[in-house]
Amino acid sequence: MTEKKKMSPTKKILLSMLIGLVVGIGLHYIIPDGFFKQSVLIDGVFYLFGQGFVRLLQMLVVPLVFFSIGTGVMQMRDISQFGRVAIRTLVLYLITTALSVAVALFLAKMLKPGVGMNLVEAANSSTPAADAEKAPTLIETIVNIIPKNPIEALANGNMLQVIFWAFITGIIVGRFGEELKPLEDLMEAGNDFMMKVTALVMKAAPIGVFALIARTFTDIGLGIVGPLLTFLASVLGSMVIVILLAYLPLIVLTSKSSPMHFLKKVFPVYTFAFSSASSNATIPLTLSSCDTLGIPREISSFTIPLGATINMNGTAIYQGCAVIFIANAYGIDLTFGNLVTVVLTAVLSSIGTAGVPGSGMIMLSMVLSSVGLPVEGVSLIMSVERIVDMFRTALNVTGDVVATFISATQERLLDKERYLSDEKPIMEEVGL
Ligand code: ASP
Repeated sequence: MTEKKKMSPTKKILLSMLIGLVVGIGLHYIIPDGFFKQSVLIDGVFYLFGQGFVRLLQMLVVPLVFFSIGTGVMQMRDISQFGRVAIRTLVLYLITTALSVAVALFLAKMLKPGVGMNLVEAANSSTPAADAEKAPTLIETIVNIIPKNPIEALANGNMLQVIFWAFITGIIVGRFGEELKPLEDLMEAGNDFMMKVTALVMKAAPIGVFALIARTFTDIGLGIVGPLLTFLASVLGSMVIVILLAYLPLIVLTSKSSPMHFLKKVFPVYTFAFSSASSNATIPLTLSSCDTLGIPREISSFTIPLGATINMNGTAIYQGCAVIFIANAYGIDLTFGNLVTVVLTAVLSSIGTAGVPGSGMIMLSMVLSSVGLPVEGVSLIMSVERIVDMFRTALNVTGDVVATFISATQERLLDKERYLSDEKPIMEEVGL
């Protein structure tokens, strides 16, 4: 008992992930299919604790983002510097997403997943993805950032609209501090309150992560991976390439120090994004890890929720690989022009992908249709969807932190001392 208490939260989460994996795979093969496995374990205990934890985190997101951005903007000294960081981050988001899908297309072209499947396109088919809503145009997306009703935006958790409203609140309260003193105090107290609630919820992370992972693997085991091995290899290989050839060199170049500090502090975020498969639900943890990286809240409270909404490098990789896989499976040749179209639509679809489980798969139909590939092809990779979603979410969130870190560093806003320190994430900080 005492020993367990001494273990750091990061180690605890990692351990519960591994135990969840072993327990899940074990249960998948030991317990026969039936009521106990499905209703008591998968949809019972594991669902209760896993989904319960995800919901606890979701419960934090809207007020946390609102107060965090509000107070951040309120205390901001230099709005123009903030503008520069915001634009830089936005550009980095777009470039890294385009780069991710390009890497994925390249690697998948080499590994040739799906070749030899010789499928024939069905004349009239429909899949859940085919029935997906049409993605809004870019102009619509921009106009939709302005909430018609801020209360509705908060109630529905429309992230871009929440960011917009929090921004306006922060600017006005910051500018008329004296006149609006009660509001200023309220924002600050709200922010402190949310940090404390976040710390409290994080206490449940080990059990939540265990239940999420155990549930997934009790359900699917390892068997389904076999026939889709090259597809998975293309996705994971592209992720490794993006991390090793883009993220880490950029971190080293901008921070002029070993990437170990960065990796250590981002690791808890990575594990949680992996278990929950939701960038949105991970926001509270991502923000806390940005704190420990020395990124000021003024910046991260804006760029992280924005990134969780529009920056999906992992999803872009998945979409690039899925395009090649499905084209190969149906024996359809893609021209160079097609590949360029895929890069563009994957970037747009990544903006439209919500940071919740499975949304990347829904948006895949848009990318497939842009080059005339059969949308029903999505069903071919459905069996590995959850696993791929876990990996792509982890990369999505890491991409948000990387871009935020780089732009904060370039604007000399990074607290280097804090970055190089051994500071631990939020769960250890607040004595609850
Ligand atoms: N689950 C991913 C995320 O939350 C989105 C996706 O499905 O690709 O970031």
